[in-house]
Formats: sequence, structure tokens, C-alpha cells
Amino acid sequence: MIPRTFPEAFSLRDQTALITGGGTGIGLAIAHAMHAAGAQVVLVGRREAELAQAAQGLGTGATALEHDVTATGGAPALIARAEAAVGPITCLVNNAGIHLKKPAVETSVEEFERVLRTHVLGAHALTAAVAPGMMARKAGHILFTASMASLFGLPQVVAYAAAKSAYLGMVRTYATEFSPQGVRVNAIAPGWIDTALSRQAMAGDPRRRERIIARTPMAAFGDPLDIGWAAVYLASPAARFVTGVILPVDGGVSIGF
Ligand code: NDP
Repeated sequence: MIPRTFPEAFSLRDQTALITGGGTGIGLAIAHAMHAAGAQVVLVGRREAELAQAAQGLGTGATALEHDVTATGGAPALIARAEAAVGPITCLVNNAGIHLKKPAVETSVEEFERVLRTHVLGAHALTAAVAPGMMARKAGHILFTASMASLFGLPQVVAYAAAKSAYLGMVRTYATEFSPQGVRVNAIAPGWIDTALSRQAMAGDPRRRERIIARTPMAAFGDPLDIGWAAVYLASPAARFVTGVILPVDGGVSIGF
């Protein structure tokens, strides 16, 4: 049913979101925004103390579960563990990620594999584990954190760009397979957002930082919550007819000169 009032359209009441990388940065901001919109949230990551502190900061309705997304065989068990604790997952956010900045010719196959395993195979394993339940319930949303590296060329990030570009094909494929069963699949492509990961990627490279600002029409880095509120929209009833999209939230970087 189409929502008719503002609170109905944007509320995540009755939703439960599992967010990988939910203990820090963009994932934590997505958790904060979804929790503020009424959802229960499950924060997933490898560092137990970080996760526990993040869940405690959000308060009632936030749960922390330690899990390494590269342990792909454990994905069904993670979903089962989460659903036993908090009920059916209505929204999966594939957000966990690592960065690797190196010239392409110095990037080893092992390093490349680690990046693909985290972003691509980790996200696929969780998606494949959660989607059947969502399709059986005829409702669900799966969100990916893509990147500007999904959209245009950036030097020194060949593995990261391969992983984030893979999301474009994955989102479109899952969307065509799952949407007939009521499960929408979308991505947000953040521009440069001020987090530990982006600070690490720019460490010791002030020219890269200047270049980013110079080509961003809004001439600033984004806040993690800019991504959080966009994620609320995509998960909400207001976006019930939106599937298969890659939404840039980027201060205009992707259309800038
Ligand atoms: P953070 O480093 O704060 O977040 C990365 C998160 O991923 C951490 O919480 C980390 O937790 C988790 N993570 C990494 N590896 C694994 C793993 N194997 N299993 C489970 N969790 C894992 O950086 P951001 O918030 O910036 O990054 C979040 C996402 O946003 C990433 O996918 C990144 O590529 C993407 N992104 C970021 C942009 C930016 O400008 N910041 C721009 C575009 C995209 P832990 O170490 O505890 O496991």
C-alpha cells in the first residue's frame, strides 16, 4: 500500500536492519539514522569492543554481532544468529569495506583477492543468505555502499575500484531476480566522506585531498550522516518503487568538471 502521510512514508518502524561495518564511520551513521527512524539495528564487524561501544551508544534496539564477512561459509549462521536474537531481517546493508591504495603494478594477487573477498564475496554470501527469507515474506531491502570508484577512474585503487564496480552489476542482477518477490536492491555511491577509511586513503597525500575538494561542486567532504539519511530513504516505504539504482550522494563530484 502506498503511504499517504509523511511519518508513514519515511518511518522504519517494524524494520530490522543488519549493517556490516556498522561499528564505525558510514555504517555507524546508517545505523544511527535507521535507528532514529524507528528500526532495530544489528551492527556487524570484526572488532568486538568497537561494536559493543557503538551499540551501547545507540541504546535500546541496537545489537552487536561479531563476524568477519570474508568467512563466507559463516554467512547463513550469522543471519540465523541475528534472526534468533531480533527477528526477521528486513534490510541488509552491505557496507563493510577495506581500502588499498597502491600503484596497479605493485598490487599483488593476494592483496587484490583480499579486497574482492571483503567487498564482493562477503556481500554476496550475506545477500544469498538473507534474500530467501525476505522473498518468502515478500518484503525486504538490500543496500550496497558503492563508491565514486564505481563510476570513474581513480589512480592507485585498482582492486578497490574492481570491487566497487562489481557492485553495479550485482545490484542490477539481484534487483532483477529479487524485485518480483518484493525485495528491492539498491546502492548508494558516496562521494568523499570524512571517516577513518578516507583519512587513511589520503594520509601523506595532501594533493589528493586538494584535488578532491577542487572537483567537488560543493567544495567539501561529506558527513557520514549524509549517507545515513539517504539509506533511510531507500529502505523506507517512500522508496517502494525504487530498485536497481546507484544513488550518488557526493556533493556533485560525479557530475562536476
Ligand atoms: P571505516 O573504516 O570506518 O569502515 C569500514 C568498516 O568495515 C569498519 O567498521 C570495519 O570494522 C568493517 N569491516 C572491514 N572489513 C571487515 C570484515 N572482513 N568483516 C566485517 N567487517 C569488516 O570506513 P568508512 O565508513 O569510510 O567505510 C564504509 C564503507 O564505505 C566501505 O565499504 C567503504 O569502501 C565505503 N566508502 C567510503 C567512502 C569514504 O569517503 N569514506 C567513500 C565511498 C565508499 P572491523 O574493522 O571492526 O571489522
